[in-house]
Amino acid sequence: MNRIPVGVLGATGMVGQQYIALLRDHPWFEVRFVAASPRSAGKSYAEAVAGRWQLAQDYDAKVASLIVADANDVKAAAAAAARGDCAFVFSALEMGKDEIKALEEAYAAAGLPVVSNASAHRWTGDVPMLIPEINHHHADIIPVQRKSRGWDKGFIVVKPNCSIQCYMTPVHSLMEAGFEVRRMFVTTLQAVSGAGYPGVPSLDMIDNIVPFIGGEEEKSEKEPLKILGRIDGGLIENASGPLIAAHCNRVPVVNGHTACVSMEFGDRKPSVDEVRAVWKAFRALPQELGLPSAPLHPIIVREEADRPQPRKDRDADKGMAVTVGRVRPCPLFDLRFVGLSHNTVRGAAGGGILNAELLKAKGYL
Ligand code: NAP
Repeated sequence: MNRIPVGVLGATGMVGQQYIALLRDHPWFEVRFVAASPRSAGKSYAEAVAGRWQLAQDYDAKVASLIVADANDVKAAAAAAARGDCAFVFSALEMGKDEIKALEEAYAAAGLPVVSNASAHRWTGDVPMLIPEINHHHADIIPVQRKSRGWDKGFIVVKPNCSIQCYMTPVHSLMEAGFEVRRMFVTTLQAVSGAGYPGVPSLDMIDNIVPFIGGEEEKSEKEPLKILGRIDGGLIENASGPLIAAHCNRVPVVNGHTACVSMEFGDRKPSVDEVRAVWKAFRALPQELGLPSAPLHPIIVREEADRPQPRKDRDADKGMAVTVGRVRPCPLFDLRFVGLSHNTVRGAAGGGILNAELLKAKGYL
């Protein structure tokens, strides 16, 4: 099968590099267009990432020789599209929120679908914020989005914040099994790669924990409500719960976001064994469709008392699975657990690629 040519905006950054690595042998998509800031524009990809390539796996020779475009120059991407080198773009840009918003809209208006990692459009009412195992049906808003904005081929979808999948996929699976989750207390321990490159200064991070990540607690508390919401009148209406209190911390771990979660259930309260059984059995549309990046088991349950751990569990199922453990009673709420997922794979580039695979399977790409 001929692979679909794709572009990566922000291809030189932490998430962009992960896109390049994950798409290297992808069965459906092939990177043929890369763009970043004016600082990188005009250089070959190899020159642009020299000295700051962060991954153990190398980029391939074809990508190495691509000339990096200026991501602000939408016409360059439109020209790549016209010569058959870019059917849609993954957006991994780090710029001002308003700048990213306007730029992603300009790409969509130019006929290029945008599958974004940036937070800029997460609160735009007609833009779906997808975790395919939870709310794949929110993609149904794409025709409405296109119509109301006058876009024929372009559209925008986003994925949520990088820590959310490590607790919301397990929580959603319990809700789907009929256990209402009313309140949650979440403490995240987030890896330094979540801040991009070069990110947090080493002197702030070594031998230390920083108990503040700008904007992160608001995202952790509110984004799940949109993900659990429903399409109503051309917009995605937020769910009314669960009520979430989040404490977000930056910890000296390279990759892998961990969350310690206490949950209060409604009238029907599951036992520890029921929770484990729901998680072990959980499968969703990506698994049914056999999407190339879908983990076989979206939730992996560890029985050991000291798991999950970032170093041992972040790469589970190619970094796309959520690993959970330590399910036990909570004296404050009902039950508590620890969840973990890879922030630049499941929480960023891998999640974006799974979104694109879902959209392809649904006929939008
Ligand atoms: P990063 O390492 O700082 O990379 C930023 C990218 O944006 C680089 O390619 C950079 O190009 C480009 N860029 C910066 N300023 C630009 C400008 N003025 N015009 C055009 N391009 C510009 O950041 P990151 O961690 O990869 O994050 C990328 C996006 O993903 C952000 O929106 C972030 O919030 C989101 N995200 C990150 C994670 C994570 O775990 N890191 C997870 C989920 C979502 P140059 O290399 O040329 O400067």
